[in-house]
Amino acid sequence: MMDKITIKNLHIYAYHGVHDSEKETGQNFYVSAVLYTDLYVPGHSDKLDDTVSYSDAAKLIYRVFSENKYDLIERSAYTVAEAVLNEYPQVEGIELSVSKPEAPIGLEIEDVSVSVELRRHTAYIALGSNIGDRREYLDKAVGMIEESPEISVTGRSSYIETKPYGGVKQDDFLNGVIKVRTYLSPFILLDRLQFIENRLGRERKIHWGPRTIDLDILLYDDMILDSEKLTIPHADMINREFVLKPMCEIAPNLVHPVYKKSMRQLFDAASLAAVNSNAEPPAVGIQ
Ligand code: ATP
Ligand code: CA
Ligand code: CA
Repeated sequence: MMDKITIKNLHIYAYHGVHDSEKETGQNFYVSAVLYTDLYVPGHSDKLDDTVSYSDAAKLIYRVFSENKYDLIERSAYTVAEAVLNEYPQVEGIELSVSKPEAPIGLEIEDVSVSVELRRHTAYIALGSNIGDRREYLDKAVGMIEESPEISVTGRSSYIETKPYGGVKQDDFLNGVIKVRTYLSPFILLDRLQFIENRLGRERKIHWGPRTIDLDILLYDDMILDSEKLTIPHADMINREFVLKPMCEIAPNLVHPVYKKSMRQLFDAASLAAVNSNAEPPAVGIQ
């Protein structure tokens, strides 16, 4: 349950539609939005600065909705929903619907509409580099993540020097983790991280081999996901001190959704296992 601000049926004359005539003549649209945000503070202070002004929010929706001509109302809905989240960090989620009652389909309809929903999630991302100026690669990656309008970095560990993992002979790594808030889905977040890896010169030659930058999703809320492209939590994180140690720095009490143990407990178990195995590399992870 969360407080919300609702804007209902904001009337906007605009030019979205697949037909040329729709883009030329335009038609009536109605946009509704539910903004999920905590209203406790404005509910007690009575100060406009403490809340999301519904007047400003409606104007933003009006401007973003009318400044482009899209084929699809789906596109217009996502564009507006994302613009609201980018403008108001205190808005935790949004439901937005676009209705187009005069849609030219050659049949009598009362209305047609699409509704989209976005909400912010918390994710942890592991960073690693062992080629070139490793610190600069890590800093650049964090900078590029922070520059994405859909992602904000809300926590950051220090970097630690670590021995290579997985048996490939190569230079030592610099590793760290960050905490982010994002309204991207895990798959789109992964695409974004891979785009950043590629921009920073990542090549995929040897599995677990040297790399300018590696960005892995460790956790995403308490989601459990096992698909061909993406496993969340990261399948091997519980065996990796170079992940668990920086996690202990920024979220020691965070509980792993599968093993139901805190980062601190997992780190203690992983370091014990490493000592017991006489510094042999830990159990090979699932790929
Ligand atoms: P490891 O995943 O064991 O740390 P790696 O990072 O060296 O190994 P990559 O070559 O960077 O492996 O990635 C291989 C594939 O792993 C990616 O293309 C991606 O589809 C998949 N993958 C699965 N789960 C995740 C995850 N949680 N984060 C990042 N990539 C993942
Ligand atoms: Ca990795
Ligand atoms: Ca990776």
